[in-house]
Amino acid sequence: MENGGAPRALILFGSPGSGKGTQAKLLQICLGAPQARNGGAASANATSGASPDGSGSAPHISTGDMLREHIQAGDALGQEVAAVMRAGMLVSDDLVNRLVEDRIQRPDSAQGFILDGYPRTLPQARVLGDMLRRRGVSPVVVHLKVDYNEIISRLSGRRQCPLCKTLYNLGTNPPKVDEICDVDGTGLVTRPDDSEAVIRQRLEEYEFQTRPLLDFFRSSGYPFHEVNGSGRSKQTIANEICSLVAGNP
Ligand code: ADP
Repeated sequence: MENGGAPRALILFGSPGSGKGTQAKLLQICLGAPQARNGGAASANATSGASPDGSGSAPHISTGDMLREHIQAGDALGQEVAAVMRAGMLVSDDLVNRLVEDRIQRPDSAQGFILDGYPRTLPQARVLGDMLRRRGVSPVVVHLKVDYNEIISRLSGRRQCPLCKTLYNLGTNPPKVDEICDVDGTGLVTRPDDSEAVIRQRLEEYEFQTRPLLDFFRSSGYPFHEVNGSGRSKQTIANEICSLVAGNP
C-alpha cells in the first residue's frame, strides 16, 4: 500500500459480520505496490483480490484467522485462546498486540498492509498507533456499516474454507457447489463461534469494547471513511473503498 508516499495501513473497522474479511481479500491488489495495479492508478479493476503469487498485494492481516491457525496447530498459544474465542470474548490485548507486531515486521508488510479485526480495544488502538508511528506507516480507517438484523442473518449462514479462508454465506453469497470452496474444492466449515448465543456475545463485545474506537480514530485525526456495507455487491463495495483510499495518499 505504498502510494508514492508513506506506506499505509488500511484499518477495516466494523462489527462481526460486516464484511471486513471479504473486503480485505478483494482489496489486496488495490492497496498493494503500485506496479501490481496495472500501471499504478487505483481503479475498479484493481480490486480483484490477491495476485496469484501474492507479490505486489498488501498482506491481509486478520487477527481472528491468525488465532484460529494457532488453535488448529494445537500449540500453546492456541490452547490459551481456544476457550475464550469459543465463548465469543476478546483475547488479551498483549497477546494480539504481539501477534500483529510480529506480522508487520515481515518484509511483505513493508509497503503497507490491511488490518481486519484489529485494533478492537482502546489499548490495542494506542499500541497500534505507536507501532505505525515508529515505522512511518500512515493509517486510513474504513468503517463498514451494516444493519444489526442483517449482521445476525449473515453470521448464522456463514461458512469458511479452512484452507484458503474464503468466506461464503448460504443466503447471500453461496459457493457454486453446496458446502464446497469455489477456489480449491475443500469442504467448507462453520466457525464454532457462529452459533446464535455466541454471535450475541460477540456483538456485545463489539458494542462495549470496540465501537468506542470510532471516537478514538476521529480524535486522532486518522483519515476516516464510512462505507455502506449492505444492499450492494461485495465488488461494488470494494471499488468504493479502493477509490476512497486512493484519495488519501
Ligand atoms: P468477527 O469479526 O466475525 O468476530 P474475527 O475472526 O475477527 O471474527 O474474530 C474472532 C474471535 O477472535 C473474536 O471473537 C475474539 O475472540 C478473537 N479476536 C480476534 N481479533 C481480536 C482482537 N484484536 N482482540 C481480541 N480478540 C480478538
